[in-house]
Amino acid sequence: MKKKLLFLGPPGAGKGTQANLFCNKYGLSHLSTGDLLRDEVSSGSVLGLKAAEIMNKGELVSDELVLSIVEGRLLNTNDGWLLDGFPRNVNQANSLKILLEKINQPLERVVLIKIADDYLIKRLLGRGRQDDNEQVIANRLQIYREKTSPLIDLYNKQGILEEIEGNADIDVVFSSIEKALGG
Ligand code: ADP
Repeated sequence: MKKKLLFLGPPGAGKGTQANLFCNKYGLSHLSTGDLLRDEVSSGSVLGLKAAEIMNKGELVSDELVLSIVEGRLLNTNDGWLLDGFPRNVNQANSLKILLEKINQPLERVVLIKIADDYLIKRLLGRGRQDDNEQVIANRLQIYREKTSPLIDLYNKQGILEEIEGNADIDVVFSSIEKALGG
């Protein structure tokens, strides 16, 4: 089973749910930049307050901030990791590549969870998080298309991309991920 992983997909695709299940079963560190940022927001720090403003608009927080969060966490893992929500643009992907070369832990597989927009919007509206209202969701989907989706091609060219259909029951999606990763 591969142990240096990245889950990619639009907001609402189920990355977080699947990443949690996967990390619990296989003992990997789950590095979700969304969760880590929300922790920062709840801590009430100045950085958190600034991040909250951006997140509530559905925009991306600065590359420097997420990179420093990820870097700190990656250096503290030893039995594999799963990145969720990072990288979200080409610049972050380049920074990640440099970081992983430095620690000599190359990315082994990227799992793309695919799902049609109609289902995504329904799921996100049902979730009811602070950044889950219609206008903000539309913004996040647009940013995903513009900034994040080019990463699909990038990892495909490296031959490490696995595509999974996300519009199915949680356990069905989970099995297809395990299968794709050689479990
Ligand atoms: P979702 O999977 O629904 O998009 P996340 O929990 O991954 O939600 O992220 C929530 C918000 O946190 C994003 O809309 C963005 O503002 C911020 N965020 C998370 N990860 C990153 C990142 N790698 N770069 C910039 N902003 C990020």
